[in-house]
Amino acid sequence: MIAIEELYKNYGPKKALNGISLTVERGELFAYLGPNGAGKSTTIRILTGLTRMTSGRASLGGFDIETQVTLAKHQFGVVQQYVNLDQELTVFENLDIHGRLFGMSKRARRKKVDTLLAYIEMEDRADTLVKSLSGGLKRRVTIARALLHEPGILFLDEPTVGLDAAIRRRIWALIKKIQQQGTTIFLTTHHIEEAEFLAQRVAFLDNGRIVALDTPEHLMESVGHWAVDQFAGSEMTTSYFKTRQKANTFKAEGEFTLRRVNLEDAFLSLIGRKVQS
Ligand code: ADP
Repeated sequence: MIAIEELYKNYGPKKALNGISLTVERGELFAYLGPNGAGKSTTIRILTGLTRMTSGRASLGGFDIETQVTLAKHQFGVVQQYVNLDQELTVFENLDIHGRLFGMSKRARRKKVDTLLAYIEMEDRADTLVKSLSGGLKRRVTIARALLHEPGILFLDEPTVGLDAAIRRRIWALIKKIQQQGTTIFLTTHHIEEAEFLAQRVAFLDNGRIVALDTPEHLMESVGHWAVDQFAGSEMTTSYFKTRQKANTFKAEGEFTLRRVNLEDAFLSLIGRKVQS
């Protein structure tokens, strides 16, 4: 559904994207994970037509984003990092305007808005002014808006940024539900847990390059299965082991914590620093 070949983006001397190539299969949830400044938003901005690439090729649903712009634009919905709803309008009005932009009839819009409000469990909020909604509810409205014209691809740029842990989990459940309906999802995040929980495959991005791309399981296995954290003053060092037995033998020698390897460990070992510093 998404194909990117040798994508470069320069901002003056800055190489924001330095040769990105990847494909995302139909129905897949693909996470694009990297620290701030890695190039995540730039990739989404290019794919969604907000900025031009310096060189490379990309297609959405088989349509080239530079030579088949209109067809490519109908393939996706996008949820930007920051809520960009009209705060002075109601939930219904915000969704309705978006449907009009896509040329949907009044009847089709009403039907689709009702369905989506039920889908995001906000049927009772249709006439509420957006400015009076909480951050989590606003995020749900932006997701519903992105789905209004029934796109095959949904781009989510840091969908849970600024939300607390409980609300974040509700958004995760909604994202899973959308994928289960067959939508292909391209998610950018610097929340490692989000990628580990949601994605079938994860790309680790650093300085505009893909450093690793695989399933979360394979990325974690490349490090080991068990981790032993050792604390000395304010410093922590971590050692990785294939088996629990080996980790336990090592642990027996001092003050350590034993735990399962997570995706943060894989990122740290491959990139040499944490995603969130
Ligand atoms: P991320 O989304 O991973 O945090 P971005 O894609 O926003 O990263 O940015 C990648 C790099 O490109 C950063 O070094 C950033 O400073 C730079 N950059 C992004 N947008 C612009 C811009 N409009 N002008 C100049 N530099 C930019």
